[in-house]
Amino acid sequence: MLGLMQGQGLAISSLIDFAEKHHGDVEVVSKRVEGDVHRTHWAGIAQRARQVANALDGLGLAFGDRVATLAWNGYRHLELYFGVSGTGRVLHTVNPRLHPDQIAWIANHAQDQVMCFDMTFLPIIEKIHAQCTTVKHWIALCDDAHLPAQTSIPGLRSYESWLQAQDQQYVWPVFDENSASSMCYTSGTTGNPKAAVYSHRSTILHAYAAALPDVMCMSARDSILPVVPMFHVNAWGIPYSAAMVGAKLVFPGPALDGASVYGLIEAEGVTFAAGVPTVWQMMLSHMGPKALRFSTLQRTVIGGSACPPAMIHAFKNNYGVEVLHAWGMTEMSPLGTLCTLKNKHLGLPPEDQMQIRLKQGRCIYGIDMKIIGPEGQDLPWDGVATGDLLVKGPWVLREYYRQEGPSPLIDGWFPTGDVASIDPDGFMQITDRSKDVIKSGGEWISSIDIENIAMAHPDVQMAACIGVAHPKWDERPIVVVVKKPESNLDAATLLAFYQGKTAKWQIPDDVVFVPAIPLGATGKMLKTRLREQLQDYRLPA
Ligand code: ADP
Repeated sequence: MLGLMQGQGLAISSLIDFAEKHHGDVEVVSKRVEGDVHRTHWAGIAQRARQVANALDGLGLAFGDRVATLAWNGYRHLELYFGVSGTGRVLHTVNPRLHPDQIAWIANHAQDQVMCFDMTFLPIIEKIHAQCTTVKHWIALCDDAHLPAQTSIPGLRSYESWLQAQDQQYVWPVFDENSASSMCYTSGTTGNPKAAVYSHRSTILHAYAAALPDVMCMSARDSILPVVPMFHVNAWGIPYSAAMVGAKLVFPGPALDGASVYGLIEAEGVTFAAGVPTVWQMMLSHMGPKALRFSTLQRTVIGGSACPPAMIHAFKNNYGVEVLHAWGMTEMSPLGTLCTLKNKHLGLPPEDQMQIRLKQGRCIYGIDMKIIGPEGQDLPWDGVATGDLLVKGPWVLREYYRQEGPSPLIDGWFPTGDVASIDPDGFMQITDRSKDVIKSGGEWISSIDIENIAMAHPDVQMAACIGVAHPKWDERPIVVVVKKPESNLDAATLLAFYQGKTAKWQIPDDVVFVPAIPLGATGKMLKTRLREQLQDYRLPA
């Protein structure tokens, strides 16, 4: 017997319709690339999202065609979030921090038809447009007055003039809720970047889950500042959840320094903010010496890298702000666990509560997780045993986009590449990473890429890249090198060799020369052993 309820599919267009109808006057505030602060509201976003939809139809794009963005957090980006996905096209948010060659590779792999970019990234587009063979339309996210006087980009036009010509009415199409809505590449593992492709269904279910009280607890009373970029797993889904609950949104644009973020929090009555530890570190460093205080901020979600205990302490004890430690992945839309206490923990002394808060947290309804040992056996939830962390759920990736070879799933479970323990209350704690990557300021660096560049130097016999703890960036890469016999290669020469071969921030901080790199039985470098050997190593100041 079937249920007798209405079966409307889940659609991102319904979020913006809802936000307009029920919270149309709620503000969306953006610091812009142009330097000023722009103010609109959900009704304004909805109207312009419909103009985006008409504009895309006007370009003759097919259902499922990819529209790329290379943009900061701001209202125009938000309009594209709803306008692109609402029509059944796929929003491809590109990470501008990647090397231009990698951006071009990604645009070609995704077969992007349209590229919308903030003017900050004009130099990147000038450099790569000829390599992007599928892009037919280049849209600068500005008005005509801000377009460059001269450009080599064919047919470049401004977003504002593009939208101005469009009707404000639009009827959103109805389609299968499993249709692709957006995609995001992650360079988390070796080789070329890989894309997670989200669906309308996965996005809406994730948006419901993210708004729950024990998750990000978002409501119509909130003013929300996503510092986490919209090109990084859809700003952890905040734009969708904010539309769902009718929260005010505050976007930082390119201004991510401590003073700007703090200023925006105070000016816009922000109650809730989300970002990686690095941005909060910058903000706290700005606030401390000036004895600044928050007047409205109640909580921050911190994720993307392990949150340092000192940061949780500082927010709570010095500023009365609750830190919610979160864990997730691009492949998980991204939320998996969040750390909020259970009722039975409320009577514990503060230091015991802190021990719990430092963990990555417990599962959100919709996500299932387990840890397994080397033989694939399930490990106990005793808070001691550590093993590979596997997840499944309706917003977890099944396969990567256009990926050849076997599915990454193991018996239906997605292997996260994280190593963790889980305690009897279900609180998960990351203890290590089995994937060979470094995460610096919330962005990935592929250790294999760094090693390959070193190996291309004629004086290098073997190179291993490992991450070293860093107070500001969480982790920084160093490269450990065995020189060829008789070579007198020095660190400065090898570091200079990296220039132009990878994004500047991905260049290792140091070179450590060693007589040998530990190898396993199959000849693979034993990074765990290498990390142990270098445990007393300190980065150059
Ligand atoms: P995001 O940064 O949005 O979480 P990514 O796909 O870029 O997504 O990175 C996911 C990886 O980042 C995880 O597999 C894990 O290694 C690391 N990570 C994310 N959150 C945390 C956290 N709270 N603590 C430790 N590591 C984390």
